[in-house]
Amino acid sequence: MLTTHPWDDDHFREECGVFGVYGHSESAALTALGLHALQHRGQEAAGIVAYDGEQFHAHRGLGLVGENFSSKDVIARLPGHSAIGHVRYATTGEVALRNVQPLFADFTFGGLAICHNGNLTNSYHLRNRLVRRGSIFQSTSDTEVIVHLIATSLKDTVEERMAEALRQVEGAYSLVALTQHGLIGVRDPLGIRPLVLGKLGDAYILASESCALDIIGATFVRDIDAGEMIAIGPGGIKSTKPFDNPHKRFCVFEYIYFARPDSVVDGVSVYEARKRIGMELARESAVPADIVIPVPDSGVPAAIGYAAECRLPFELGIVRNHYIGRTFIEPTDQIRHLGVKLKHNANRASIEGKRIVLVDDSIVRGTTSTKIVAMIRQAGAREVHMRISSPPTTHSCFYGIATPERAQLLASAMDVQTMAKHIGADSLAFVSIDGLYRALGQAKRDGKAPQFCDACFTGDYPVPLVDHDAGKVSTQLSLLAETV
Ligand code: AMP
Repeated sequence: MLTTHPWDDDHFREECGVFGVYGHSESAALTALGLHALQHRGQEAAGIVAYDGEQFHAHRGLGLVGENFSSKDVIARLPGHSAIGHVRYATTGEVALRNVQPLFADFTFGGLAICHNGNLTNSYHLRNRLVRRGSIFQSTSDTEVIVHLIATSLKDTVEERMAEALRQVEGAYSLVALTQHGLIGVRDPLGIRPLVLGKLGDAYILASESCALDIIGATFVRDIDAGEMIAIGPGGIKSTKPFDNPHKRFCVFEYIYFARPDSVVDGVSVYEARKRIGMELARESAVPADIVIPVPDSGVPAAIGYAAECRLPFELGIVRNHYIGRTFIEPTDQIRHLGVKLKHNANRASIEGKRIVLVDDSIVRGTTSTKIVAMIRQAGAREVHMRISSPPTTHSCFYGIATPERAQLLASAMDVQTMAKHIGADSLAFVSIDGLYRALGQAKRDGKAPQFCDACFTGDYPVPLVDHDAGKVSTQLSLLAETV
């Protein structure tokens, strides 16, 4: 298989989106729409579980939301006034389907379906403990650890059991669960992944991002707080804070790349944040040039900000082909090197003879930048100055954004000048960490109490990497490949 993903597809990906509806006769259809809006958070599997007052109904499949939930028959088989859904990256093959969420289990208190966005950093440790005590796991997903911890809790209510389970867990999680009584939404004590509450008439909605409220015409109520659990049921909403010292460290990479630009997180528009990062970048590393070009789509808002700040023309010098699927079958090995060209092509008319500022959101392994810089040169650019709207990615993420191992991160192996040479650019600059914080409304990064999780740029991991430090897993991704 040839993939259009920037890095090889031999990794499991843990980026996900979650969605839930309580109190609407079309709950599964609304969930399918919500998942469409969250498709960017995970494109390899989708699932919905609905509850009709008597029974739970589930449909899960590998592939896009549209590939699994566009038929009326499928939605008709998911009746009920409440539903939850999930999109995720997963692997191919038979191991994948059993990991497709929502996971479902029958407990003494009834059924529970659960969806998770994030990644647990002590799941290997917890899982081993549970297995030694007799738990039998059905999947290799870290979310199932939470299910077993709920099952083995002796507390009375589902919420208390869930709180007890989550107090044993380390890592990042935004969870949406469905029971006979209603919906539960939880954000980890640092609120690393997003989760919002919305309303549609009398119905309540939970979603990873506000763009999933917009698609169904729901109104945004508020972000779920870091360390907050909300239970939505016939009596309305009950909010609790089951964790000690919740303190927000939202993932700054959601603002940089991951969230959709039309979403608003913590009152900040993702699009505006990206534009402001581009402006900071321009202030820090302006260069004489003729035009500013984004790497589409990820570099577009930052390039708009950069161009505005430098008063340079913004041009679409690279055209992205939106009809390339996620993967296609590769006819021969010889065409593997085509890589990025499948997705991007240089627009010679706007590039030839010009000094170009090329803006992208991040350099991970450097594969995209290397190919795109070469492509721009082939199209006749006189100079190519690469500008990146994040600081150098020097560390892997263990909290739910798929990143290669540290050794594969270009910025962990090279300084900026060497990176510039490596990608073939005339110059290369990244926004500084303080510039990034300034763009997000802070004076600078507060070294003692940073407002965001920025571990991928600083190595300051706010949640202990229990499994990793014990040498159990090299990254969040390999956990799934381990057999316990
Ligand atoms: P690379 O080619 O490995 O340097 O990857 C950089 C490109 O991948 C940039 O264009 C980013 O927009 C994109 N990117 C960054 N992080 C991720 C991620 N976690 N998943 C998928 N794409 C990403």
